[in-house]
Amino acid sequence: MKFIADLHIHSHYSLATSKLLSPEHLDYWARIKGITVVGTGDFTHPKWIAELKQKTEPAEDGLYKLKKEHFMAERLFSDKKVRFILSSEISCVYKKNNRVRKTHSIILAPDLKTVEIIQKKLTTLNCNISSDGRPIIGMDTKNLLDLVLSVSKDCMLIPAHIWTPWFSLFGSRSGFDSVEECFGDLSQYIFALETGLSSDIPMNRLCSFLDKYTLISNSDAHSPEKLGRNANIFNTDLSYKGITEALKTNNKKTFNATIDMFPQEGKYHYDGHRKCGICMDPFSSIKHENICPVCNKLMTLGVYNRVAKLSDRKKYTKNTEQPDFFHIIPLKEILSEILNVGVNSQRLTNVYFDTIKELGPELDILLSLPIEKITNTEVSQDLFNTKTSSNPILQKLANSLKNMREEKIKIQHGYDGEYGKISAIGS
Ligand SMILES: [Zn+2]
Ligand SMILES: [Zn+2]
Repeated sequence: MKFIADLHIHSHYSLATSKLLSPEHLDYWARIKGITVVGTGDFTHPKWIAELKQKTEPAEDGLYKLKKEHFMAERLFSDKKVRFILSSEISCVYKKNNRVRKTHSIILAPDLKTVEIIQKKLTTLNCNISSDGRPIIGMDTKNLLDLVLSVSKDCMLIPAHIWTPWFSLFGSRSGFDSVEECFGDLSQYIFALETGLSSDIPMNRLCSFLDKYTLISNSDAHSPEKLGRNANIFNTDLSYKGITEALKTNNKKTFNATIDMFPQEGKYHYDGHRKCGICMDPFSSIKHENICPVCNKLMTLGVYNRVAKLSDRKKYTKNTEQPDFFHIIPLKEILSEILNVGVNSQRLTNVYFDTIKELGPELDILLSLPIEKITNTEVSQDLFNTKTSSNPILQKLANSLKNMREEKIKIQHGYDGEYGKISAIGS
């Protein structure tokens, strides 16, 4: 079965997250987005697990579903399946080889019993798991991997957003230069890596040492609306085993593709100095020895710079054996550009929901809905409050989607704290 999964999110027990990150809202938003499997996030938190136990029930092997009595009143696409998979993120801060290391890891677990043993073991080791849904522990990441595998060999540890400067496996500030440097003789138990919001497949594939890993994408959502901004397309059994086996084998047949936002939008993508008006790609930076040609000081280096530093390929060439990847722009951003209104405006929210109700879940619209279907949609007079029969918003949406899918977009790269801009409206 083909389905979309977002394995890394957070609950309302993580710091700086939305109060709406509850099982019922996750179920509600997963339907709007077109996601079948959602990570629970935060499984190390005892209260979150208590809430999941109360509000969900076992479904397919290793997956859970929301109990009927917790369904939201208006539940779009109620005929679709939405399942939860037990996942968590753990932040490790420790010293190794005389340097402070900070990594984030996603952990998947096959059932609640396994989760409770992991919680117990962490507590015995004096790790505080009750204050933050994403706990910070003083354990070596390798020992964390050892711990979860000792509880169940079916657990999986996946290094999270591997290029983030401060908190990741390859982060420039406190990471490592290779998987082996971090995990040593346990490296063979690392099968997948999360590319994160600031990098995509073509960037990662510049590093041949990553060839053997399944590269995955998740939203790392801190509010339910952000679900699926990055996600994965599986074609396997709808079960814990189906999902983890697909992640382990890096086979396009079972792990079809990743869905990524354009990473150029990130505010630390390229290198440069905002004040000096200098923005450059990392390969040009290397030629300038990372020095700003205007002020002669070190430039602020972006995520791509770190990738370039560890890379051994100059150019990305598509390997048809490997899983596909799709670049998307969130539907709200596309509509915001079309309507020329702010992403947080009420008008946009109304148009967004009208579009979803008319055309289907968001990721279906972005990835696969035939363009003709959008242009031919007979919309009711009052949709979008426009009084004409041929709907100009839908015509423009069709055009933007076509441009996005063909990657005929205008890119302004993010750098030195300035967000990039992606435009799909065309000329
Ligand atoms: Zn993280
Ligand atoms: Zn400068």
